[in-house]
Amino acid sequence: MSDRLLVIEDDATIGEVLTSSLRGQGHDVFWERTARSGLARAARTDFDLILLDLGLPDLDGVEVCRRLRQQQSGAVVVVLTARTTEMDVVVGLEAGADDYLTKPVRLAELHARIRAHLRRGVPVLAASPVRSVGDLVVDTASRRVTVAGREVGLRAREFDLLARLAAEPGVAVSRATLMADVWDDHWSGSTKTLDVHVAAVRRKLGGASASLDIRVPGIATVRGHGYRLELDP
Ligand code: CA
Repeated sequence: MSDRLLVIEDDATIGEVLTSSLRGQGHDVFWERTARSGLARAARTDFDLILLDLGLPDLDGVEVCRRLRQQQSGAVVVVLTARTTEMDVVVGLEAGADDYLTKPVRLAELHARIRAHLRRGVPVLAASPVRSVGDLVVDTASRRVTVAGREVGLRAREFDLLARLAAEPGVAVSRATLMADVWDDHWSGSTKTLDVHVAAVRRKLGGASASLDIRVPGIATVRGHGYRLELDP
């Protein structure tokens, strides 16, 4: 069973990037945009981890954190804050937060911290590192890609890109999410490099699926949004 996460974040762009990337990591993610709706959600549903933006429009984030602590004694609370002074950090932790991250959040660091926190709880079987779509198999443990058993040579970023798309087959993943997940801290730069890598992966998967008997997904362009991995695009 996947871990259940609650994101309480009022910023639409940040919320979208966070929820999409956390879903890509295999988590079951709920997103609430106000303190009140977040608290209402937490009153109904048990969460393994709550990601709380301290700067919410309707209630003070530290107060929200205190209330979440009372409601959700089993959940790990990670505070996201643009406030970087030490006092704010201390106040956040005194309010019952288990950890904090300052914005802008580096997704690789966020994922690593969340994994570490969730491991501390009840041991769960890790999500399988192997994803298969048709005859394509992406193994994130060994970082190997095979098509019908034959290995496809991908460069590091090409592999990361394909692995990210394969984490959610059939789901349109936005350019911003791909840049954030695959290129991490360089994601605010040009996204031309994304198209170049997509072209390379398409070429290599196409070359590997020359036989008609082999079913290999392609990377479909989703106009005005991003890309989607699917069979028979
Ligand atoms: Ca905010």
